[in-house]
Amino acid sequence: MSTLEIHQIPTRSDNYVYLLRETSSGNAAVVDPSDAEPVLETLDMFGWNLTHVLATHHHDDHVGGVPEIKEATGCTVVGPKADRDRIPMIDVEVADGDTYRLYEAEAKVWDVPGHTSGHIAYWFAESQALFCGDTLFALGCGRVFEGTFEQMYDSISKFKEVPDETWVYCAHEYTMGNAKFALHVDPDNTELQAYAMQIQHRREAGVSTVPSLMGLERRTNPFLRADDPALASVLGMDGKSPVDVFAEIRTRKDNF
Ligand SMILES: [Zn+2]
Repeated sequence: MSTLEIHQIPTRSDNYVYLLRETSSGNAAVVDPSDAEPVLETLDMFGWNLTHVLATHHHDDHVGGVPEIKEATGCTVVGPKADRDRIPMIDVEVADGDTYRLYEAEAKVWDVPGHTSGHIAYWFAESQALFCGDTLFALGCGRVFEGTFEQMYDSISKFKEVPDETWVYCAHEYTMGNAKFALHVDPDNTELQAYAMQIQHRREAGVSTVPSLMGLERRTNPFLRADDPALASVLGMDGKSPVDVFAEIRTRKDNF
């Protein structure tokens, strides 16, 4: 049994970078370091020793800090095999179905293409933590830049394996805007209404709304409810396939 202590570092205008510390030692890994400086400063402040970078996808606001961090710490860079040429200084390539062992903790790796073609997610089951990069957000999902709607729907459907008690560590504070859209397409969902209210209070107080709980997301995030006939009906899409419903919701969000 191994659990990781997770520390959130806000960077840029709305990015979240995560430090995963092994509780029995001072070793830590960083997920999606947009920038080196805030990561190195935080490590210094806590006295933690960085051993690994875990990258989800090639966008600069996820791997921009990798070269400087690797130079400063000599850490091992783990990233998607499918995108090895676009991830700087990658040492270990992982792909769909792999189990990656970080210290005593195990992460299941999924290929989750759609936002980018080589995007991956890491699920640390024992730590109840899903690092999904820009695939899934609190009340939202990533824009489909390099894949198809069908690919993106298949990607977020892989998260069905994750228990409700899992924390979703997404990489951006997009929740307020996502909540407005979710209420727009699903206005009568009372749990969503309450969640949106809580999000508003948190943002007004300058508090992060990430991570969110998978169970709550399943009941309120419209992108995770594309297979729910009740939501299809609200959208006027009775009888349509979940992929069609997902594509409709994603397209409406793009134009919201
Ligand atoms: Zn991205």
